[in-house]
Amino acid sequence: DKDTGVKVAVRCRPFNQREKDRGAKLIIDMNGAMTTIQNPETPNEEPKKFTFDFSYWSHDGYTEKDDGYLEANPGSKYSSQRRVFDDLGQGVLDNAFKGFNCSLFAYGQTGSGKSYSMVGYGNNKGIVPITCDELFKAIEAGDKATKYEVTFSMLEIYNEQVRDLLSKDNPKGGLQVRQNPKLGLFYVVGLKKVAVGSYAEIDKRTQEGTANRTVASTNMNATSSRAHTVVTITFDQISKNEAGEETKKSSVINLVDLAGSERADSTGATGDRLKEGANINKSLSALGNVISALADLSSGGKKKVMVPYRDSVLTKLLQNALGGNSKTVMIAALSPADINYDETLSTLRYADRAKKIKNKAVVNENPLD
Ligand code: ADP
Ligand code: MG
Repeated sequence: DKDTGVKVAVRCRPFNQREKDRGAKLIIDMNGAMTTIQNPETPNEEPKKFTFDFSYWSHDGYTEKDDGYLEANPGSKYSSQRRVFDDLGQGVLDNAFKGFNCSLFAYGQTGSGKSYSMVGYGNNKGIVPITCDELFKAIEAGDKATKYEVTFSMLEIYNEQVRDLLSKDNPKGGLQVRQNPKLGLFYVVGLKKVAVGSYAEIDKRTQEGTANRTVASTNMNATSSRAHTVVTITFDQISKNEAGEETKKSSVINLVDLAGSERADSTGATGDRLKEGANINKSLSALGNVISALADLSSGGKKKVMVPYRDSVLTKLLQNALGGNSKTVMIAALSPADINYDETLSTLRYADRAKKIKNKAVVNENPLD
């Protein structure tokens, strides 16, 4: 039961077509755990330096296999999907088996690679599907005397309203978020939670949920969601201890693909879209304030810091993931291009603050009653 820091990784993707068309210049470099960014307006100045738990170079140095999988060239520093899973997803899995709550969230501007790392595309499966797949493989290989129970739920936060992505009839105005008076934690009233017995079932539910997402286009990325997507997996292991009593080890795994972090004006949004942008920023700036407050608390400088979880739906639901009982990983997605300098620098600063957070994760193990 010791303090555990939030683990922070950053990942830099290849140039996209838009960046190539504009003759974009590469301003990110990585060396070991260090990431540097060059201000394109002051090319003679030293680049700014940041250090993270992991700095993943996925910009170049890869070959696309026949099945579409992007594989690292021999000797290159390219980080493949498998590599990222091995570092981050495997830890989530191990912690879930030990009975810790786990959270993984992806931050970054639209088009920076959040969904690629979390969910992936085609044969380049991301951390979430690989982790779910490995979870069921481990269950099958696990102790036959242990009973395993897995549930799945999926929601989105859009305009500060919660929609159940596994439900066809969401109430107007969204589902209610309430606080459990005993535990103090916030939860979504009436959210569908389905039992799943295999990876295939999770995959099917994910597709169902993805199809139900609110998708609105902006100039930046026509297919990108402007909502926060939260997948929650609960994992229970019921077994007998030495005294023959039944005990239950429980883990809640939160997997969060955040909405784009860019300011609304930089995407050319107007009208309704602008309002959405403002709300998305409300949740994200609340997240930023929570991260700052927690970082202040952890650094010990200030003793009395009010952590403003209640300022947005996102921070209410992520309370445990951020400052509570959870092993938490954040992956910040970076564009490599000079034209995104301001947004990328702000992502790096956000990630840098998140590093300072210390959680208190404890094993959830209780006798069955
Ligand atoms: P976001 O979810 O942040 O809006 P996406 O994950 O959809 O962004 O990524 C935008 C595009 O960049 C996609 O076409 C995706 O395939 C590509 N991409 C992102 N990250 C990588 C990566 N590490 N390697 C290769 N392509 C990537
Ligand atoms: Mg996305």
